[in-house]
Amino acid sequence: MFQAQVDTDLCDGCQDCIDLCYFDAIALVRLPKQKRMKAAIDLDRCCGCNNCSPSCPQEGIIMVPIRELEEFLLKQQAGAITVTA
Ligand code: SF4
Ligand code: SF4
Repeated sequence: MFQAQVDTDLCDGCQDCIDLCYFDAIALVRLPKQKRMKAAIDLDRCCGCNNCSPSCPQEGIIMVPIRELEEFLLKQQAGAITVTA
């Protein structure tokens, strides 16, 4: 499972990705020491559909693995977590 992340060095604030996200997970924010607004991902809303990333003209959105899920699965594989039906 993945979630979107914005590379703020590449993002130019064009807003293209905002309309492409059906989950309202992207907003423009003003970051410290940045003249332009930048896209930011609300990770509570992002489901990792990857609709935004290929359409960014700056290639400024990358999909990254969900660390918590990976850690959960690693612990489960190691026998530290038992899942019951
Ligand atoms: S489409 Fe890319 S460059 Fe445009 S606001 Fe979104 S992340 Fe930034
Ligand atoms: S991956 Fe999907 S849900 Fe997440 S920000 Fe991009 S378009 Fe929205």
